[in-house]
Amino acid sequence: MKDLGKILEYQEKDIELRKIDAEFNKNPEKKKLDTAKREFDGVQREFAASVSEADRLGKEIEQAYADARATESRIDELEKAFAAAATDEAKAALLPAMEKEKSKLDRCRNKVVNNIDRIKKLLVSCSQKQQEKKKIKGVYDNIKSGLQKQLEIVQPRRDAVRKRMNELREEVDPVLMDVYAKARKDGMSPPVFVAAVGQGGDLSCICGMQLSPGSVGKLRNDGIYRCDTCRRIIYIK
Ligand SMILES: [Zn+2]
Repeated sequence: MKDLGKILEYQEKDIELRKIDAEFNKNPEKKKLDTAKREFDGVQREFAASVSEADRLGKEIEQAYADARATESRIDELEKAFAAAATDEAKAALLPAMEKEKSKLDRCRNKVVNNIDRIKKLLVSCSQKQQEKKKIKGVYDNIKSGLQKQLEIVQPRRDAVRKRMNELREEVDPVLMDVYAKARKDGMSPPVFVAAVGQGGDLSCICGMQLSPGSVGKLRNDGIYRCDTCRRIIYIK
């Protein structure tokens, strides 16, 4: 039977490292940082939407001006034709077209006025959003520098654990190391190696799977047995 001592120590260090990281991530300040980041992104999205709306309205204004100029020149022509018309009937015949062009001109002018109003509002809201972004950024930077200090405390612990893991990697039986590394790579969270629960022939995995007499025999013979249910490596303590 292989000596499991080193791989079990390696596993213990792996669990410790995960615990250090989990503790750090659970830190309320870390949550606040994530919240500030989300808020900032939200305001940034609104800001960008306002800018793009203002841009679109600006283009509409340009178009409305061009339409207004074209309409005005058609109105000029119609007015000349009206003045030159010889009969009342001829004058009357021009009136519907003149009305139509005049109401078109009104629509163009209204569009310009309305869009300018809306753009003014958008500019106000953009500048508010800029302020808001600045404020959130300040909060974010504060939390971040606080967390940086904590990270500086956590980092030496992490480094020490990693250093021991690197040493152990050289000492562990390569076959066991491979089994461990592969299980971790496949997404199994440690422990990968687990002590059998129970006594004598009545053994089960920590996941609750009861080992058949055949599996117990194999476990006793090889020293390890892969659980059929959770795929963890069972050993006898
Ligand atoms: Zn299991």
